[in-house]
Amino acid sequence: PVRVRIAPSPTGEPHVGTAYIALFNYLFAKKNNGTFILRIEDTDATRSTPEFETKVLDALKWCGLEWSEGPDIGGPYGPYRQSDRKDIYKPYVEKIVDAGHGFRCFCTSERLAEMREAQRAAGKPPKYDGLCLHLSAEEVTRRVDGGEPHVVRMKIPTEGVCSFVDGVYGPVEIPWDAVDMQVLLKADGMPTYHMANVVDDHLMRITHVARGEEWLSSVPKHILLYRYLGLEPPVFMHLSLMRNADKSKLSKRKNPTSISYYSALGYLPEALMNFLGLFFIQIAEGEEMLTMAQLTEHFDPENLSKAGAIFDVQKLDWLNGRWLREGLSEDAFVGRVLAWAMENDRIKEGLRLSQSRISKLGDLPDLAGFLLKADLGLDASSFAKVKTAPEELVEIFKTVQPDLETIVEWNAESVEAELRASADRMGKKLKVVLAPLFIAVSGSSRSLPLFDSMAILGRSVVRQRLKVAGQ
Ligand code: ATP
Ligand code: GLU
Repeated sequence: PVRVRIAPSPTGEPHVGTAYIALFNYLFAKKNNGTFILRIEDTDATRSTPEFETKVLDALKWCGLEWSEGPDIGGPYGPYRQSDRKDIYKPYVEKIVDAGHGFRCFCTSERLAEMREAQRAAGKPPKYDGLCLHLSAEEVTRRVDGGEPHVVRMKIPTEGVCSFVDGVYGPVEIPWDAVDMQVLLKADGMPTYHMANVVDDHLMRITHVARGEEWLSSVPKHILLYRYLGLEPPVFMHLSLMRNADKSKLSKRKNPTSISYYSALGYLPEALMNFLGLFFIQIAEGEEMLTMAQLTEHFDPENLSKAGAIFDVQKLDWLNGRWLREGLSEDAFVGRVLAWAMENDRIKEGLRLSQSRISKLGDLPDLAGFLLKADLGLDASSFAKVKTAPEELVEIFKTVQPDLETIVEWNAESVEAELRASADRMGKKLKVVLAPLFIAVSGSSRSLPLFDSMAILGRSVVRQRLKVAGQ
């Protein structure tokens, strides 16, 4: 039976790319009467957080991509969160080392950095140089017994090519000398993505691995790991990445990439799934509006293009408009609007902040309407009120945007702290920095408190508003 998975790493705001890959897997499962499962890949302990994990689960649920096994509901092959599976990986790593397919590496991060620097200077791609491959068994034992920190790396054939057939790309050949001696087990005892991914796909009986094309170059490592463990690899399918209109990889600097941006602005999940699903099917013009069931019907992984999926926001807007007009009954429409406005308590929070600032309820739309707006309709003249020179405005926006990106947990306090630090670094008064941001975020110079507003709007909406204003 077909078993597929989406395996997100909870290291950031849930990405539309994750929804795109998840939808492919979901449709593939539906088409084949298979099972779609969710696995959380949080082996990168420094970047993974429980908050992001909750957000990933919520975002995929919002999309309507329900899984049959996962960290929240369990299942026969759990646990479904890699940090809860730490002990499961050890015997597999040991098996690889004992069979002579892996080796312990004691190189310090300083040595590795120097090695990479030398490789870079010589114009070579960074790759482990194999120093610890040649340690004697006695020396390894002595250093391990002495408690010296080390990792486990996999051996890679020294010559030849790795050939495999990808479900989308067809036959692929990658020379072994382009493949790094990948770390399998980190010094802290955590497996790397590659090790955990292979072991889990095996233990969770995954039959088809469909994921973004950025993983195509990792397939040789994975195939080798399956071989070292005496296991049969699944079928690999690498999907072309989504791209900006200029063909570059979709990036949040050019296009909003958070699922929460689209839900906050009032895109319907049906429309977003419809839009993403069109990348996986061939359909005549005029037939584009499709439900999940219809997408499943037309879904044909044989027909995928490698050309790249252009994320065309205008097309999404057009589809969303059709879904609003044709996809919902009047009652359903009203229900959706109300649920959307209440989402994440933003109306409640907005009203709380508004109470002391109005003389009649009718003042509310002007004061707090920006919390719901898709477009503030700003132009250069909107900033005339703040008496800041145009060059200084540019400097402020250019500085504040990357500074805000460094915030891990987005809330009124963290936003305030970051903006204060940002103003300090620029040597400017806080007031001078906040005045243009106020307009960029709320559209007016008379509005709700800035930090709270930014918290309510969420980072992806704020990012887009600052981008628009800074242009
Ligand atoms: P950044 O915007 O900082 O470069 P990113 O866009 O690469 O980050 P990640 O956090 O690395 O985003 O990726 C999150 C998930 O979204 C990954 O599973 C990745 O495969 C997927 N993803 C990212 N970009 C794309 C894309 N352009 N097309 C399809 N999937 C993508
Ligand atoms: N955790 C990986 C990611 O976030 C999963 C890649 C895979 O599907 O193997 O993209």
